[in-house]
Amino acid sequence: MPEIREIVTTTPGMPATDGAGVRMTRIIGSPQLDMLDPFLLLDCFESDRPEDYIGGFPSHPHRGFETVTYLLAGRMRHKDNAGNEGVIEPGGVQWMTAGRGIVHSEMPEQEDGLLAGFQLWVNLPAAHKMDAPAYQEHPANAIPTESRAQGAVVRVIAGQTSTGTLGPIVQPLTDPLYLDVELPPGTGFQETLPHDHTAFVYVFRGTLDAEDANANPVRLHAGELGILSHGERLTLRSAAAGARFLLIAGRPLNKPVARGGPFVMNTRAEVRQAFADYEAGDF
Ligand code: FE
Repeated sequence: MPEIREIVTTTPGMPATDGAGVRMTRIIGSPQLDMLDPFLLLDCFESDRPEDYIGGFPSHPHRGFETVTYLLAGRMRHKDNAGNEGVIEPGGVQWMTAGRGIVHSEMPEQEDGLLAGFQLWVNLPAAHKMDAPAYQEHPANAIPTESRAQGAVVRVIAGQTSTGTLGPIVQPLTDPLYLDVELPPGTGFQETLPHDHTAFVYVFRGTLDAEDANANPVRLHAGELGILSHGERLTLRSAAAGARFLLIAGRPLNKPVARGGPFVMNTRAEVRQAFADYEAGDF
């Protein structure tokens, strides 16, 4: 069993439109990359054209998993049918456990300017898909920042780094690690991950150098996702323009996944039940 985490494959996202006409790049949850268990979807949105985002995501349901919104720029207001409401600001994160069901909206709190960020969907184990909905919401100043050698900056959104920095998000069911890493030009980055956790990097600025299983160099450009092999030690280096990327890892659930739009269950019958419950107003 290799101890080193190598890049198994790289994939670009694909342009997608969701909600009421929001343009984005779908990185996980696309025909090319269905899922990376337990991660069901990763969208990246970034635009300073209001027509790309102004429609937002009007009222819609979720059941059976968690949605994680991490904003880089702009503001998003969320509201749900249980009376929860708030605004996510740059550098802030909202980790929403939809559980048995929630109906919410996610709308830009701006009419112009840049809106940029990510939405990640994290699956829940079968025994917890019908748990009560819950939120973990943290502004930028509640997200610890680790300063490493050569000016590397690591924002710890979820989980714990190898040097002990603990992010504010706690989710023992999938034990997620969610890091936003910024490297100046030509800077190395090392991290230790649980051997069997699913892990990937998504580069959103600059260029990142890594190695594949044959020790050949692999270069990840902005907009590319690199799927990592199992293993423990990850070593990356930014190229001449520096790099900024997400490093995300979590424990796979290894169970059947049945998707039906905003519902992600284990069987088709459970998805049909979700639609029936939603239509009956039982969310
Ligand atoms: Fe949603």
